[in-house]
Amino acid sequence: MQGLMQDRQLLISTLIEYAGLNHSNVEIVSQTCEGVEVRSNYANLRSRSKKLAKALLALGINTGDRVGTLAWNTFRHQELYFAVPGMGAVLHTINPRLFADQIEYIIQHAEDTVLFFDISFTALLLPLLSKLTHVQAFIAMTDREHLPAEIPDCLCYEDLLNAQDDVYDWPQFQETQAASLCYTSGTTGQPKGVLYSHRSTVLHAFTVCTVDGLQLSRQDSVLLVVPMFHVNAWGFPYAAAMCGAKLCLPGLGLDGESICELANNEQCTMSIGVPTVWLGFMNYLESAPDRAKTLKLNRIVMGGSAAPRALIDRIHTHLGAKTIHAWGMTETSPMGTIGNLLPEHQHLSQQQKFDLQAKQGRVIYGVEIRIVDDEGKILARDGIVAGHLQVRGPWIANAYFKMPDHDVLDKDGWFSTGDIACISAQGYLQITDRSKDVIKSGGEWISSIDLENTAVAHPAILEAAVVGLHHSKWQERPLLVAIKRPDTEVTQDELKDFLACHVAKWWLPDDIVFVDSLPHTATGKLQKNVLREQFKDFVFSTDQ
Ligand code: AMP
Repeated sequence: MQGLMQDRQLLISTLIEYAGLNHSNVEIVSQTCEGVEVRSNYANLRSRSKKLAKALLALGINTGDRVGTLAWNTFRHQELYFAVPGMGAVLHTINPRLFADQIEYIIQHAEDTVLFFDISFTALLLPLLSKLTHVQAFIAMTDREHLPAEIPDCLCYEDLLNAQDDVYDWPQFQETQAASLCYTSGTTGQPKGVLYSHRSTVLHAFTVCTVDGLQLSRQDSVLLVVPMFHVNAWGFPYAAAMCGAKLCLPGLGLDGESICELANNEQCTMSIGVPTVWLGFMNYLESAPDRAKTLKLNRIVMGGSAAPRALIDRIHTHLGAKTIHAWGMTETSPMGTIGNLLPEHQHLSQQQKFDLQAKQGRVIYGVEIRIVDDEGKILARDGIVAGHLQVRGPWIANAYFKMPDHDVLDKDGWFSTGDIACISAQGYLQITDRSKDVIKSGGEWISSIDLENTAVAHPAILEAAVVGLHHSKWQERPLLVAIKRPDTEVTQDELKDFLACHVAKWWLPDDIVFVDSLPHTATGKLQKNVLREQFKDFVFSTDQ
């Protein structure tokens, strides 16, 4: 027997309709590539998204066509977030930090029919123009005054909008239709496309708004630091429309000082981003402590790589804000687990609370997780035994775009994340490594993430990476490669003594090398494959 409820589809257009009508005056504040600040609101966003949808139709964009964007976090990018999927096409956000040949590859692979770009990416785009064989129009996201002359026949975003009115009914279609496309920034092989649906996007937005999720609400003014070219900015533009949260878009200004200024001016209550950004932010704040006094930030959502415990402590101590540590991937939309404390944790000391917050949190309704051994046997949730993390749920990918032969699920529908983790009896996930980075010493696993986090807790260490290298007796042993903070000193032995207070003796790195910089991927993750290559001939002092 079927239920007798209306079969209204979960479409992205319902989010902007709702926000435009019910949170019409809530502000959207945007820095822009032209250097001016633009203040808009949800009523305006709804109206301009409709004009843009009509402009896309006028350009000949059809249902399912891919519309590429090379853009920062600005109000125009946010309009594309609603207009493109709203009219039935697929928004393909491109990471400009990838290498030029990877950018070319993904635009070609996605077969983008038009490409919207910020004027700051004109130089990046120029050498690619003739190679992007599917792109029929390049549209500069600016007004006529700032149109880049270098791009032949370049269309102007504001002209396209000015040619339309906002009388437009969003089309109705199945919620399982594709809405947006984002490529993983894999460290090996070509990037793979993850194709989100309207349904997965709307369900994911509900999660962000739940109290045991990220508590996003109309009470919030959100500083959107995570780029809109990375996993739909963790779904925040959609979740913010769902609850009417104010959004502050930093454009190009992602340094500590610019973020701090925007957060202060707009009285931001929460922000989201990768740990590297918050390290920069806290370094700035600690050099300008007066700026911290007027900030209203009460929570920082951190994910994308492990949030160091020392950073969680600094954010609490100097900012008075709570860190919510979340785990996810491009393939998981991205929210998989979220690190909130439970009522039974209220009596814990602050240090014990930091310990828990440094884990990646618990699953939210909709996502299932488990860990398995090399043979696929399900492992215990005891917080000790580590295994391969698998995940399942309605906003988890079941295939990659245009890769029909690449099976990503097992027979029961579990997606293998490539992460190694343990899960505590209370359900807290702790990521210990990527499976390809795990260090196997004498048959036992050593967590490189734990060692890195412990190393950056030392006051003289700015950033640290641990890789496993060949050792004739132990098969592999850890090498710690670290950057010192400016104007500080620490020796190998001093750092080893410090680590020895926090980790098991057999985990201690056999050697420590100090460097000036560490290699990162386009999304800010440590590139351990590059480090392993760099140190492939390294001989441990314990192995000579
Ligand atoms: P991406 O698809 O680029 O977002 O990368 C996803 C990967 O980032 C995951 O599989 C993890 O290896 C890593 N990651 C994401 N969030 C965290 C976190 N909170 N702690 C540790 N690793 C993380």
